[in-house]
Amino acid sequence: MKRTNVSIFIPHLGCPHRCSFCDQYSISGSVKAPSADEVSALLEEQAPVLERSGTEAQIAFFGGSFTAVPREYMISLLESAKRAAERFDVYTGIRCSTRPDCIDEQVTEILTKYGMTAVELGAQSMSDDVLSANDRGHTAGDVRRASELIKESGMELGLQMMTGLYRDTPENCLYTADEFIKLRPKTVRIYPTVILKNTKLGRLFESGEYKSFSFEETVGLCAELLKKFGENDISVIRMGLHASAEVERDMVGGVYHPALREIVESRLFLKELLKRLEPLGAGSYDVFTDKRNLSRAVGQKRENLTRLEAAGYNIRFRGRGGAYIEIAPRLSKGR
Ligand code: SF4
Repeated sequence: MKRTNVSIFIPHLGCPHRCSFCDQYSISGSVKAPSADEVSALLEEQAPVLERSGTEAQIAFFGGSFTAVPREYMISLLESAKRAAERFDVYTGIRCSTRPDCIDEQVTEILTKYGMTAVELGAQSMSDDVLSANDRGHTAGDVRRASELIKESGMELGLQMMTGLYRDTPENCLYTADEFIKLRPKTVRIYPTVILKNTKLGRLFESGEYKSFSFEETVGLCAELLKKFGENDISVIRMGLHASAEVERDMVGGVYHPALREIVESRLFLKELLKRLEPLGAGSYDVFTDKRNLSRAVGQKRENLTRLEAAGYNIRFRGRGGAYIEIAPRLSKGR
């Protein structure tokens, strides 16, 4: 059975904050808040389409502050979602994303009453200095408190982090990952900062006061984050912002690449391979890996092969079902 989300974007209605990186218009575009009836209609229309393609779906209220919208409106949307989930078997859960300071006992009670199965928190960083420098309006303590409430109420916890914010460092990002791991989320999303004009970050960037991490630095850092979360059985379900015409139009700096995840996975593969080749010494090798890994192994524009060659390794990648990295020395012809 395939799995997907039916995403319903809830724009940040009257968000009282002005986080350093956020240009609400650019991120939400001109999306208007859907009514409960529109949500019901969408879910009814999508159900047979999902059924025909053998796909299960979660009903996903995205936009970042679902529990901060006017309470009556939130409940009307939850009623529509609950009705659809009861009526159509293809809907297997309801999820939302929100701010850590917009979760309390009353909210988790409402969410569970309407069948919410997962809540993702936009934590962004676990460094209070970074949170405050970026005007997030919440602390790392709020993330810990909200995470516990979500898990205690039986819902799945997801955490979202950003890299390269104002006053951020790679060490801070690794610390954030370690703190996330202690909170035992089921899923994580990693968003390298994209600097948009008309934001505090945009102004700091243009004045020279702020530089985000370089692309190279971000790839190396994200590879470490991916490894850390993977070793702790936490799924990284997204890396990098989704492609968006508004973001492309308004970005002035930062890291935005449609194939970021693939590049990061490829870097991780290279690091692991180099680690295993080192004790064997420079030379020619066949490296076996599952066919699904081959493009990752070679790298975008054959980058991994070039780097391996520069390090003294002449590598030929070959497919082998189920293998990650298996190395065999390549004998020269005539021997
Ligand atoms: S990112 Fe910050 S400013 Fe933007 S909608 Fe979310 S809470 Fe509000």
